[in-house]
Amino acid sequence: MTSSVNESDTARTDSMETLDRVAFLVRNCTDCPLANGRTHAVPGEGNPQADVMFIGEAPGFQEDRQGRPFVGPAGKLLDGLLASIGTNRDDVFIANMVKCRPPDNRDPAPRELAACTKFLDRQIELVNPKLIVTLGRFAFGRYFPGEGITKARGRLREKVGRKIFPVLHPAAVLRRDELRPTMIEDFKAISEILEGRSEDTDGEAAVNAHAAAETAVPTVQLSFVDASGPAAVPTVQAETSTVNVEEASRPEQLTLF
Ligand code: URA
Repeated sequence: MTSSVNESDTARTDSMETLDRVAFLVRNCTDCPLANGRTHAVPGEGNPQADVMFIGEAPGFQEDRQGRPFVGPAGKLLDGLLASIGTNRDDVFIANMVKCRPPDNRDPAPRELAACTKFLDRQIELVNPKLIVTLGRFAFGRYFPGEGITKARGRLREKVGRKIFPVLHPAAVLRRDELRPTMIEDFKAISEILEGRSEDTDGEAAVNAHAAAETAVPTVQLSFVDASGPAAVPTVQAETSTVNVEEASRPEQLTLF
């Protein structure tokens, strides 16, 4: 298929017929200034028919180098968490809110989030997962703007006809080891949801995915978890659509238990 990278957003959205096509357009996108600084765009990857889709924030240093999501320290933790529930990255789909690395791993700007939303929207439509797991505050803010991830994590929600399960960002767990048990519990809940062993959601209301999810995250203010939430992040309307915690001085604590 011939591809013009100068088509309008609308035309491009219409032409995003496959995940490969979305990836092509992401790799050629110049819709925001992040394009200028990237080594590689990171469209996302995984099983095109995955039951579960993980949405992170934005590529970090390693992701930018390799063009693949979650391949740095946070990704290694994510791999371990997936393994802890008997799955792996080939079974799931992993994408990010923003497809190019923000300089110095800063939070993505509203303009950058807005420019990328069309790609994530279409990836979600194409994969059509049974469950979306949001990793960290920016992905959570896409669905529930203005709420804090610390309080919301571990509770199955429904929004725009999709089941959304918010969890902390793996990078937050690397920075605060005391969050590790909470993250492990939340991943257990993911497998229970997928196996139909947890309570279902109730409309747009929150329900507990499992009792253990009530375990409070230490109420320390986690600047990269909640803080100045993604106030200006684009939010989802129906099946449309909303960042970084990354590598700098990240501790290499990758053991799960
Ligand atoms: N953090 C993210 O949010 N996404 C990645 O791909 C890597 C780290």
